[in-house]
Formats: sequence, structure tokens, C-alpha cells
Amino acid sequence: MFDNSQETRTNLSELGEFGLIDHLTRNFTLKQNSTKKGIGDDAAVLDFEDKQCIITTDLLVEGVHFDLSYMPLKHLGYKAVMVNASDVYAMNGKATQITVSIAVSNRFPVEALEELYAGIQLASKIYNIDVIGGDTTSSTSGLMISITALGQAKAEEITYRNGAKANDLLVVTGDLGAAYMGLQILEREKQVFKANPNAQPDLDQYTYLIERQLKPEARKDMPPLLKELEVKPTAMIDISDGLSSEVIHLCKNSKTGVNLYEDKIPLDPAVISVCEEFNIDSTTIALSGGEDYELLFTISQADFDKIKGNPNMTVIGHMTEESEGMHLITRANTKIPLIARGWNSMEKEEEEN
Ligand code: ADP
Ligand code: MG
Repeated sequence: MFDNSQETRTNLSELGEFGLIDHLTRNFTLKQNSTKKGIGDDAAVLDFEDKQCIITTDLLVEGVHFDLSYMPLKHLGYKAVMVNASDVYAMNGKATQITVSIAVSNRFPVEALEELYAGIQLASKIYNIDVIGGDTTSSTSGLMISITALGQAKAEEITYRNGAKANDLLVVTGDLGAAYMGLQILEREKQVFKANPNAQPDLDQYTYLIERQLKPEARKDMPPLLKELEVKPTAMIDISDGLSSEVIHLCKNSKTGVNLYEDKIPLDPAVISVCEEFNIDSTTIALSGGEDYELLFTISQADFDKIKGNPNMTVIGHMTEESEGMHLITRANTKIPLIARGWNSMEKEEEEN
């Protein structure tokens, strides 16, 4: 966590805007052939040759999307890149470049922004993404980060949300609900710390959950894996808001219904045990918790043998005719309507009801 009490605290004004940009980006190197010009001119220049260009952007606001009392700035930088890269992978593309814009109040010293950029740099190194520009401005309150990611794919490889057909299989990568439960652990520890600053929390058993919240990994591996398996998803989306709302997006865009099987939803054992501890239903968390950054996609039944047994993917249901509606088939074998509840709306539930 960024420690405000540390000795070196360089005021932002000491470097000035241009000095700050140079300082933060001095170690960034370019790796992608498609980057013709990165930071340092009026605009960056890219050349995707015969590929189509995928563009996505996200804005993260302090107090709305992140809480710096438990989110270390380095992790925040890393996560901000993941959130965007995940959207490119969800189009079945390769993420290649990002721009990073920040609005920052002078309550942050240069060292805090160094931490943020260390996270951005680490993510861009691991994910092979070039940082090609951005903008820097002051803010009267708090920190804002806006990242735009660019990616590329052949036209015929790109997967949209609208291609699913009745009888297609619904597939999810990884496991669900851990990031949301990680957030619950961090919020509980924050309250404990407020009450007793000397408390020494033992968080070992929650490592996986906290990592999923603070250091999510986008599924960079999936577009190449699907290609290798010769599977072209008929539709795809990333799971940022919770399984149920993403399934509903696929259905609405593709004009299909769905049968989603509760007993097939992949849960890590750590999620199951922490849900017992918090006395919440783990299916509700998988359906409505957010920020897993896994991929959800549909494939034709004919492709089932190609993904069968792959540890990265779980078949959790199948698409139906639109007129059949969207349903969850519970463990008790009852059919209940699937409702959209993103994880933000979980908190607002009481106001709305
Ligand atoms: P302009 O005045 O044309 O907007 P800037 O002085 O803001 O140019 O930016 C100079 C260069 O530094 C540009 O290449 C820009 O993309 C890059 N840049 C500015 N801010 C950031 C940032 N926060 N992170 C990365 N690159 C940045
Ligand atoms: Mg500028």
C-alpha cells in the first residue's frame, strides 16, 4: 500500500506537467510491430495492415470504482490495464496498445504516481501491450484514470455479442465470484482496522480471493487457445458485472433464451468456504458478484468435442429459442427466471425494493 508517511514526498509541481510525463514514462519500451509512433508527438501512429482495429475505453474514479485505503496504487494501475485488455480479448482480439489519461490532485506526491505507473508498466510488460500516449491534468479532488485499449484481429475472427443461436453451448472460463468475495474480505478488514489499528489480520486463507480482487488477470490466453482448438465462438462477452447480467446481454443481443445450470457454475473451494463464513449463497455471488474478468461465450454443439475436458472452460448451459425465456435451472431442478443484478445494483437493492 502506498505509504503517505514515507520520507520522500516530491511535490507534483516540482516536476511540472512535461517533466512528470517524461519521468513516469521514461522506462516504457515499444514491443508491437503495429506501433509506428508512441509517446512524444502530437498523436501516436499505428499500422494494423490487414487487421481490423478494436478500441475500448474505461474510466475509473476514486471513491466510485476504487478505494485507496485498501487498493495499493500499483495494483490499481495493473487492474486499470486488465479491465480494458479484457474487453479486447472478449472480442477475440489481441490487445496491442493503450493510452493512459490521469487527473490527479496535488494530495498525491510524484512517488504515488510512480507506484501507479509501475503497475501499468508491469501489466503492459506481461500482456505485451505498448503504452502509446495519454493525457495528464490536475483534479480538485481525488484521482481519475482513463485507459483506452486498442487491439487487432482478422475480420472473420472477431466475436460479437449477437451471434449465439438456439442450442449453442454456453461456456465460461476460470471460476466465478472470487473477486467479489475478496472485496468483502478487504472491506471487513478495513472496518476491523478502523476499530483497532493494532489488529494483525491473518488473511492467508483468503489469498486467492484478495488477489482476484486486487490483481485480476484478463484472459489473454483464450483467443489463441480457441484458435488452436479451431473453435470460433458464436458470441462472446467478458464478465465484469456478474454472470447473470452478462448472460442476459448475450441473450438479448443474439435474440435467444438460455438454460443456465446452477450445479455447473465453476466455483473455487475458497469461494464456497468464505460464502459459508459470510452466510451468503455462493450461486448468488457467482451470478451477481463482479470483476471476475473471465470470458463467457457460446459455441456450436458441433465444437463440443474440441473443448471437452479443457481445464480452462466449463459448459454451464445452452441457448434456447428467445420465446422460451432466460432461466436458471437450480440444483433442486426447479426453473427460475434469470434476472440481471450487476454487483453495483446488489448494493442498491434495498433502496430499489
Ligand atoms: P498535447 O499537449 O499534444 O496533449 P501532452 O503534452 O499532453 O501533448 O503529451 C505529450 C506526450 O505525452 C504525448 O505523446 C502524450 O500522448 C503523452 N502523454 C501525456 N500524458 C501521458 C500519460 N499520463 N501517460 C502516458 N503518456 C502521456
Ligand atoms: Mg495533453
